[in-house]
Amino acid sequence: MCWIGEREAQAGLIDAVRAHVATELRVPVAAGFEPDRPEEAGDARRGQYETGRILKWLESRHAGAAKVLGLTDVDLFIPILTFVFGEAQLGGRAAVVSTARLSPGNGSRGPRVLAERLRKEALHELGHAYGLVHCGSRGCVMGRSPGVAEIDLKGPSFCTDCRLLYDEARRHAR
Ligand SMILES: [Zn+2]
Ligand SMILES: [Zn+2]
Repeated sequence: MCWIGEREAQAGLIDAVRAHVATELRVPVAAGFEPDRPEEAGDARRGQYETGRILKWLESRHAGAAKVLGLTDVDLFIPILTFVFGEAQLGGRAAVVSTARLSPGNGSRGPRVLAERLRKEALHELGHAYGLVHCGSRGCVMGRSPGVAEIDLKGPSFCTDCRLLYDEARRHAR
């Protein structure tokens, strides 16, 4: 897991995400330092970054990792959508999540709400990287989230079914 944002990461944010995904996925998760940024993913016309290129960049730079999660603050897109909170290669190795559209704005609740949303979206994208698809179970973190309202409504964890699928995927990954 690594921070690839333009600005400094908010204090405590990376560790909140790291601790959550490590607990939920039951795997050791290292928070690494990344000196470079995936500049080639930038789209000057849109003022955003294309996730497909970020994922390729992450993969090539972390060849030894089972999975790699990039956290950023730049606005992300895939060509067919205006924006995405994050993306992962389904059953692949790389995932990326951005804080750009997750912040509730200023106010004392801000950092806590942002961390909560980012934790969920990070686990959601890593779930995709383990081959999990969207889930309709109430409260499941693999539920579709087109907006922050949906993120806030869902829980931070896998439902029972997704948990079983994840355990299965991890067994085969070994
Ligand atoms: Zn998804
Ligand atoms: Zn589920």
